[in-house]
Amino acid sequence: MIALSLAEIAAVVGGQTYDIPDPSAKVTGPVVRDSREAGPGSLFVAFVGERVDGHDYARAVVEAGAAAVLASRPVGVPAIVVDDVQAALGALARHVVQKLGTTLVALTGSAGKTSTKDLIAQVLRRKAPTVFTPGSLNNEIGLPLTALSATEETRFLVLEMGARGIGHIRYLTELTPPRIGLVLNVGTAHIGEFGGREQIAQAKGELVESLPGDGVAILNADDPLVRAMASRTKAKVVLFGESGEADVRAENVRLTDSGQPSFSLHTPSGCSDVTMRLYGEHHVSNALAAAAVAHELGMSVTEIATALSEAGSLSRWRMEVTERPDGVTIVNDAYNANPESMRAALRALAAMGKGRRTWAVLGKMAELGDEALAEHDAVGRLAVRLNVSKLVAVGGLEAAWLQLGAYNEGSWGEESVHVSDAQAAIDLLRSELRPGDVVLVKASRSVGLESVAQALLATG
Ligand code: ATP
Ligand code: MG
Repeated sequence: MIALSLAEIAAVVGGQTYDIPDPSAKVTGPVVRDSREAGPGSLFVAFVGERVDGHDYARAVVEAGAAAVLASRPVGVPAIVVDDVQAALGALARHVVQKLGTTLVALTGSAGKTSTKDLIAQVLRRKAPTVFTPGSLNNEIGLPLTALSATEETRFLVLEMGARGIGHIRYLTELTPPRIGLVLNVGTAHIGEFGGREQIAQAKGELVESLPGDGVAILNADDPLVRAMASRTKAKVVLFGESGEADVRAENVRLTDSGQPSFSLHTPSGCSDVTMRLYGEHHVSNALAAAAVAHELGMSVTEIATALSEAGSLSRWRMEVTERPDGVTIVNDAYNANPESMRAALRALAAMGKGRRTWAVLGKMAELGDEALAEHDAVGRLAVRLNVSKLVAVGGLEAAWLQLGAYNEGSWGEESVHVSDAQAAIDLLRSELRPGDVVLVKASRSVGLESVAQALLATG
C-alpha cells in the first residue's frame, strides 16, 4: 500500500483512535485480514467471523510489527475503531485508488472472470506495472484488499468483480470506480440465487452503468444479453467476439490437436496470429476480451498477440493439464462448474482426445435452482454427442441425472457409470486407466473432485 498515517486513515474511515502513541506513524506494509500475513508496518483488519474473531489476534499482529488494527472495538493495542469494519475497508480502498490515479479495469461475467483477469494481467504487465486480483477474491472484502495492494508504481489495477445479487456490482464499483468495464457473458452461474438470466444481466450490467463518459465499456458481441448492455452506459462501447460487428474479433478459429485455440486476432489497428498455451475454445472469447482491454490501453496488436500466445494459467485447477509418466493425461478443472464451463471443458476434452480414449469424471453443478435437472441431463447428453469414451458421474442425485442424460442420448449405457463419491471414482479409475487415456475432472468446488485429480497424479 502507499504510505498513509494512522491519523489520515482514521479520518478517511471515520474511526476513533485508541492506544496510538503517535498518530503520524505510517502504515507502509500490506493491509491484511489474515493475522499470519501481518508484518512490520502493516494494517490488520479484524473481522468477526462465525468461528474466528479477528480481534483475538490483535496483540499477536502488533507484536509481529503491525502498525495498528482496524477494529470494531478497542483491543488494548494501537487500533482505529469503527462501527463497520467492512465499510471502513471499502472507504480506505476508495481513498487510495483516488489518490493513486491508477487506471482501473474491472470485469465481471458468469464464467471466465478469473481466467480473463489472469490473461489481462499477463498482457498489461508487459507494458507497465500491474496489480490484479489474486485467485478469485472478487467480493466486498477481497476487492478492497487487492486495491490496497497497489503502490505508486502501479499503472494498471485489474479487478475481478463477482455478484450474487442485484446491487452487488454497484457496491463494488463505488469502492473502486473503474474506467474500463468488461462484461464477459451472462450464463446460469448462481441462477438459483438470482432467479433468472434477465436478473443476472441486470446485476452484471451495473458495471457499465457505473462507467464515466470518458470510460470504455467492453462488451461481448456474441452474447445478446451482454450486447444489449450498450444502452446502459455513458461510456464508449467496444465490442469483442467472433461476430462480424465486433471491433476486436477472432477469425479462423480452430483447436490444435492438443486442444489449444489458435486464431487470427483482428483489432481496429491491425491483425496478428495467436496460438494459446491454455486449453479449450472458451479461451478465445477470454483472449479477445483481454485484447480489447489492452488495445484500449494503447498496446500494439503484435505485442498483444505475443502476450496472449505466451500466457499461462495463474490460478489453480482451471484446465490444469498434466501428463503422467505412463502417458495418461489428467485435466484438472475441479475449481468450479456451471453449464457453460462444463460444455467448454467437454469440447476441450474431445479436441485433446482425438484418437485417444477420453474420460469425463463429472460431478454436480451447484446453485442451478429449478434448472438443475435439465442442465445435468444436457451435460450428460453432450458428453455422448462429443464421443467421450467414458462418463463417470460422481455424487448424489445430480450425478444420477448426468448419467441418465448420457444413457438416454445413446446406446452406450454401459460406458457411463454413476459412483457415490470421489473415493469410488479413484478406485475405478486406478483399475481402468490405460496409457494414452485423457481424463477430465470437473464439478462444482464443493464436490471436492480435485482429490480425484490429485490421487490420479500421485498414482502415475
Ligand atoms: P468464479 O465465479 O468461481 O469466480 P470465474 O467466472 O472466475 O468463476 P473461471 O474461474 O475463470 O471463472 O473459470 C471457471 C470455469 O469456467 C473454468 O472451469 C473454465 O473451464 C470455464 N470457463 C472459462 N472461461 C469461460 C468462458 N468464456 N465461457 C465458458 N466457460 C468458461
Ligand atoms: Mg473467479
